[in-house]
Amino acid sequence: MDIKTEFEKLFDQKPEVTAVAPGRVNLVGEHVDFLDGFVLPFALKDVTTAAIAKNDLGVIRISSTNRDETIFEIPVAKIEPLTGEPWTRYPIGVIWSLGIKVGLDILIDSKVPIGAGLSSSAALECAVGTALNSLFNLELSLPQLALATQKAENVYVGMPCGIMDQSVSLMGVEGQALLLDCRDLSTQHIPFDIEPHDLDLLVIDTQVHHALVDGGYAERRASCEKAIEILGIPSLREISVEDFVAQKSKMDETTYIRAFHAVTEMRRVLDSVVALRAEDFTTFGRIITECHQSLRDNYTISCPELDVAVEIALANGSLGSRLIGGGYGGSAISLNKKSDTEKIKNEISKAFAAHGFKAPRFFTSLPSSGARLI
Ligand code: ADP
Ligand code: MG
Repeated sequence: MDIKTEFEKLFDQKPEVTAVAPGRVNLVGEHVDFLDGFVLPFALKDVTTAAIAKNDLGVIRISSTNRDETIFEIPVAKIEPLTGEPWTRYPIGVIWSLGIKVGLDILIDSKVPIGAGLSSSAALECAVGTALNSLFNLELSLPQLALATQKAENVYVGMPCGIMDQSVSLMGVEGQALLLDCRDLSTQHIPFDIEPHDLDLLVIDTQVHHALVDGGYAERRASCEKAIEILGIPSLREISVEDFVAQKSKMDETTYIRAFHAVTEMRRVLDSVVALRAEDFTTFGRIITECHQSLRDNYTISCPELDVAVEIALANGSLGSRLIGGGYGGSAISLNKKSDTEKIKNEISKAFAAHGFKAPRFFTSLPSSGARLI
């Protein structure tokens, strides 16, 4: 399907601008973006496309090829957070946060698996944001666009996500992971050139679809914020693991254990950068497995499917494996020798069948480019 042809069929005019934005995997640094932490994601090669043209109807007309052919119509004057068909809130939230008040025709098409923990939501927001930035000559920088699209998800959709997904969808670079400092949005590109080492980054989609908006995300975020308040520090990144542990008695168990995840996770990201710069994939693998253990035992956002995927990957030669994204479902990653990929896939599929889980889906990806006009 050609999105420009499809657009013309639907709206009887040609798109004025078309942009793509990728989903992401996060190598390490999970649930610390909203705590001013460091994260280390990369952009997938799979993208969401947004084709857009102005109309003079004073109405947003929007459709997604990933849904049925319905065109949703929202008068520009009625744009208001937390209203309208749920999926349209992501793109319309971006129109709202950019302050655009003219009629638009929009067609969305996504190759990023939806609800699989690979951030189809940020891909959608960033494709629309990149297209609008160009169409209205807004000249927003990538960090400004990241903040605007995050605001769309936070306020218009009502999902209190951090800044990671939008940042990497906009700023990803081929062959590199993005070390993002979520405090000031400064970035460094860290080589993640696994091909010459005969390694694969396998993504395992458990096909368990999470519901982040209703999930325990906000609750866990609140626990970490409570720890910051109790400890009287500006951010959990300002405290060493040792100092944090020494103050355990000041916090209730839930607050402590959730914030412990964050404090140790921030250290894991910095340790990972050292390992990757040295091309020490064994150490890097061990760190990401520790990340999974912390998400499972401390932050408690894993689920049986994710734990089985990780366990079987590790039992079959994986250097490191962990759940990624929001948790409670979605995807896991495994860094493994290319020669082990088929075996790992087969064994995970067998174990899922034995447990009566839905069949998982697999793909591999290398770090790819961020959002762009096409
Ligand atoms: P993830 O970001 O991990 O894929 P989310 O729950 O954050 O999962 O976002 C998924 C939601 O984003 C979907 O339920 C839907 O509302 C919206 N969405 C993403 N891509 C599309 C698309 N191409 N068409 C329609 N809605 C989409
Ligand atoms: Mg999302």
